[in-house]
Amino acid sequence: MPTIPATDEISDRATAALERCGADRPAEITATGQLFARTPITGGSLLPLARAADSDVDHAVSAAHQAFRSTWQHTPAPERGALVRRLGELLREHKYDLADLVTIEAGKIRSEAAGEVQEMIDICDFALGLSRQLYGRTMASERPGHRLMETWHPLGVVGVITAFNFPVAVWAWNTAVALVCGDTVVWKPSELTPLTALACDALLSRAASDVGAPADVHRLVLGEREVAERLVDDPRVALVSATGSVRMGRQVGPRVASRLGRCLLELGGNNAAVVTSSADLDLAVRGTVFAAAGTAGQRCTSLRRLIVHEDVADALVGRIVDAYGQLRIGDPFDEDTLVGPLVGEQALTAMRNALARATADGGTVLVGGSRCLEKEAPDAYYAEPAVVRMPAQTEIVREETFAPILYVMTYRTFDEAIELHNGVSQGLSSAVFTRDQREAERFLSLSDCGIVNVNIGTSGAEIGGAFGGEKDTGGGRESGSDAWKAYMRRATNTVNYSEELPLAQGVRFL
Ligand code: NAD
Repeated sequence: MPTIPATDEISDRATAALERCGADRPAEITATGQLFARTPITGGSLLPLARAADSDVDHAVSAAHQAFRSTWQHTPAPERGALVRRLGELLREHKYDLADLVTIEAGKIRSEAAGEVQEMIDICDFALGLSRQLYGRTMASERPGHRLMETWHPLGVVGVITAFNFPVAVWAWNTAVALVCGDTVVWKPSELTPLTALACDALLSRAASDVGAPADVHRLVLGEREVAERLVDDPRVALVSATGSVRMGRQVGPRVASRLGRCLLELGGNNAAVVTSSADLDLAVRGTVFAAAGTAGQRCTSLRRLIVHEDVADALVGRIVDAYGQLRIGDPFDEDTLVGPLVGEQALTAMRNALARATADGGTVLVGGSRCLEKEAPDAYYAEPAVVRMPAQTEIVREETFAPILYVMTYRTFDEAIELHNGVSQGLSSAVFTRDQREAERFLSLSDCGIVNVNIGTSGAEIGGAFGGEKDTGGGRESGSDAWKAYMRRATNTVNYSEELPLAQGVRFL
């Protein structure tokens, strides 16, 4: 019988991890009310924290703005890279402290929490290399004795708003890249994960002090959406990088646009995998179960829809249902656990409502869907991941329910599969399982998502690629490749080294 640790035990573990990271509760924040750190493992409250007042947000933006103007934008990029290198060293040292906090606040199992911190380390390595590679182009000028080129310059303050389910990696994607680009950062983490944020902030402050960077290259403000809104509306915030639900993006996008600010949106997904008749079903089963049930279905890239060729549907679904029967649900600190808790009651309610709507639409729940461990943890919300066979892609299937529900639909022709696949409003991650190269190539070009995979699941991206999605997912790109360009401004420069002043397009004047 799985056991769940007591809240006091978890609280002691959180305090110890915070102390090792050098994190105190932010002294300069004037409390407008208390914000309680809590854990979904038991549903219990951990530590009281101060919520930032409007004046704290204004002060944080002023400090970051001043650090940008006076120092950071003028610091050579490779020197800025030294800060990120030091942060990466500290993250290596405190990998398991941060992982503890991620497990405690987001409920991720140990290996996934450690994997999330590894992602932070990886992006620091990437950003360090990037600090010597912020390349511009030179173009052939149409005028003799002229040089045409583009150069990239720091943008200003970046306001980073993050979601609960990737409480540290998404911050690191933004912050490591923004810092080498010469920007300063003000971070509003999810109200559900303030402790991980305090630990990250403390490590970055230490890194800044170790390399002699200004302390105000980074500021943290804790609180709910009102705190984020203050950041969103501040004209000194040159870029708002916001990760969260489509609902949040619909509110943030227009507000930033109304002041003609820049926005980078990373919003919800409704990710699907197509399994063709030629697929290696061993790969498809493993890829599906990790992507759909892993992280208790609480990844933006979680697999939510399985679109299977009718010839292999029964065989595949039977094996997935068997695999779901082996999933151990419980304490995410227990090495044998594969599925931790849902983040809160709202998630369980959303899951139940979605299952009720799916069955009303003619769906059949093949496995899972019930709440579990209610006796062991009455204030926590553990649920059995569910697989639901659907006769069609109904409205509930087209919505993102942030819980472990996998809807299975069948198709006959590849065109039909693509139509079902693209027939949702979100466009984050997608996969095809096939051994037919033509199907693989067609999927790579026809999937309308930002992430398109072959023979692996939808979740678990590497930092080297640009991460993000299309349609309602917001269109933003973060992390690797040339995503850094969103954090800089581009200038086109024309230099005349001749003794004439020819005008472009052959225009004559004077
Ligand atoms: P959420 O939208 O409830 O909150 C995300 C963040 O936005 C929080 O910090 C919150 O305080 C803030 N916020 C909420 N409303 C706001 C508003 N009107 N103005 C300004 N800030 C506001 O999301 P969540 O429940 O924390 O996270 C789950 C969602 O995030 C899912 O939809 C998931 O798919 C998405 N997500 C997307 C990505 C991605 O990269 N595309 C990554 C992680 C999570």
